[in-house]
Amino acid sequence: MNRKIDAVCFDVDGTLYSIRRMVLENLRAIWPMRATFRELHRVRDLLRLREHPVEDFRQLQAERFALEHGGNVTQAMQRIEEVIEGSWMDLFAQGHVRSDEGMAVALRVLQTRGLRLALMSDYPIEEKPGGLGLADIDFSVCINAEDVGALKPHPRPFLAVAEALDVAPGRILYVGDREAYDVEGALGVGMLAARIYRKKRPQTRALFAFKRWALLIRLMEWKRLI
Ligand SMILES: [Mg+2]
Repeated sequence: MNRKIDAVCFDVDGTLYSIRRMVLENLRAIWPMRATFRELHRVRDLLRLREHPVEDFRQLQAERFALEHGGNVTQAMQRIEEVIEGSWMDLFAQGHVRSDEGMAVALRVLQTRGLRLALMSDYPIEEKPGGLGLADIDFSVCINAEDVGALKPHPRPFLAVAEALDVAPGRILYVGDREAYDVEGALGVGMLAARIYRKKRPQTRALFAFKRWALLIRLMEWKRLI
């Protein structure tokens, strides 16, 4: 076959669904989580700058969280888990997060074309594909960057995807919503990158940017990736 890639790996949050829409449609559920999210983002942005992957990312994250915001490490770990793996994940399990129109169809088209599909996120993934209507998609690989000890744009989670798929990075398209994390991370290990946007077309180093999922397929064909 003459296509240029063998696999497509998707970021999850902000890519397969709009975070803004999730927040607006679930304000009552998300309101109590907002302080933890805000504080966690700050801690994680500090940890993104690390040069080396760590053995236990969640432990380090809890230590930093406790250091910055008080309390002990066990309390920090519990608070983070309650929000990230509890309340937030429950929104997906209960079907309260709407995916983008055409997203599931686009993924099915890619699967039908024989491409292997993967998910790689900085956060736990478990209930998200099912909650977003992707239960029938066969994701060969689902990697939470926390489990390999470094968040995006560190090369480690991107390389972990390529290793787990047993596909060379140059034959993987990574699709994400953040320039500094997704696009830069993917390009940094030699993957191709595509960027989804929801408002204004962004400046990007990605091969292309798209707003509607039908366009992802058309642009992949136009770029002769598939
Ligand atoms: Mg994202």
